[in-house]
Amino acid sequence: MSERRHGQSEVDHNQPGVLCIKCNHLNVLDTPTCKRCGADLYRTCPRCGHSNPLVFANCRKCHKRFPRGILGHRSRRLRKTQSFLKRALVTAGQVVLVLVSLVVLAGLAYMVFDYFKSRAE
Ligand SMILES: [Zn+2]
Ligand SMILES: [Zn+2]
Repeated sequence: MSERRHGQSEVDHNQPGVLCIKCNHLNVLDTPTCKRCGADLYRTCPRCGHSNPLVFANCRKCHKRFPRGILGHRSRRLRKTQSFLKRALVTAGQVVLVLVSLVVLAGLAYMVFDYFKSRAE
């Protein structure tokens, strides 16, 4: 059983590593490119020249915010789509709720109407 725990990943997850933004592979610190897919892991800060892992949105040295890359745009659009879907779902839920309550109300009204009608006769 303990053998399965060993050798699952090349890097111990408790140790600092650099996560690849493309394939999520955890690389050993200071590896310039991803060991699995070969993508760049670092970007150089345009202000101070410090190289930062791509997963960071700010420079670790001077805290300059990096311009959003392709990844940022993509995740932003995804979030937008998700919130749109969420809103659409909520709207659909409200419509269903209104329809159901209308049907229930109509049923009740019909029952009351029927009750009074049968009493009047
Ligand atoms: Zn990778
Ligand atoms: Zn910097």
